Amino acid sequence: MKIIVCIKQVPGTNEVNMDPVTNTIIRESVPAIINPFDTYAIEEAVRIKEKYGAEIYGLSMGIPGASEMLRDAISLGVDKAMLLTDRKFAGADTLATSYTLGKGVEKIGDFDLIICGKQASDGDTAQVGPSLARGLGVAYETGISKIVQIKKDSMHCMKITDDGYEEIEIMLPALITVVKEINVPRLPSIKSMKLARKAEIEIAGFNDVNADENRVGLRGSATQVRSTFVPVHKVNSITIEGTTEEKVKKLTEVLLTAKI
Ligand SMILES: Cc1cc2nc3c(=O)[nH]c(=O)nc-3n(C[C@H](O)[C@H](O)[C@H](O)COP(=O)(O)OP(=O)(O)OC[C@H]3O[C@@H](n4cnc5c(N)ncnc54)[C@H](O)[C@@H]3O)c2cc1C
Repeated sequence: MKIIVCIKQVPGTNEVNMDPVTNTIIRESVPAIINPFDTYAIEEAVRIKEKYGAEIYGLSMGIPGASEMLRDAISLGVDKAMLLTDRKFAGADTLATSYTLGKGVEKIGDFDLIICGKQASDGDTAQVGPSLARGLGVAYETGISKIVQIKKDSMHCMKITDDGYEEIEIMLPALITVVKEINVPRLPSIKSMKLARKAEIEIAGFNDVNADENRVGLRGSATQVRSTFVPVHKVNSITIEGTTEEKVKKLTEVLLTAKI
């Protein structure tokens, strides 16, 4: 079975800076980590490999430095990794990101299963998984909390919904997004970390994938960020003095006249 895990590099801090001209995140020189939800996606792929046999491809779109993050993924059990990186891919919204990842998937070739995290810790939209599946024309299910069994051409899973759990059967090839209930990700061993340092990461730029220039990066983005700002939290506090009765009376007055 061939599994592709989509792995996003995200800032390992809340202290991110925005480019004042383009209103995009400045990703260079920010400590970076594997998107926490994607560690569950990697772990699940590794568990499938251990149980059924599989070859796992890690796929990411990001800045050149994201290749180090893909090495971390290899140390966790991913077999091969591809980084889509090119100036032309920069500034992508979720539409352009999923289109570009789809081109990476096409370059990797036939697959049985794509696993994404539920959402990214920075963008947080949870759109990329479903959008990627739609672009590739394969079935998808979000919020997978357990893979019960994989058969030749289908997969039996549990899915979290607003009301509880659903038991579902998905025809393969398919894409799933996973939630953190699905497993407990393992830590890499010293040996696997050493091997991952030597692993080759395939780097693919715009000219290496059969992409339409009008559908990648800022140019291919259907949305544009007009402005970004940090919300200002105004806290008006008052101190109420007096006896307990006076305090209760005063507090009641304040609450009844408060403008909400
Ligand atoms: C309106 C808007 C405008 C934006 N403009 C910009 C911009 O100008 N510049 C900019 O840098 N960013 C921009 N972004 C952020 C950018 O869209 C996201 O970084 C990216 O599209 C992924 O979306 P997300 O973070 O919401 O991922 P989600 O959809 O929450 O991620 C779900 C899963 O998809 C997979 N995934 C997501 N992104 C990747 C990736 N890059 N590689 C591999 N797997 C991935 C992972 O498995 C992840 O767990 C914008 C976002 C929005 C909503």
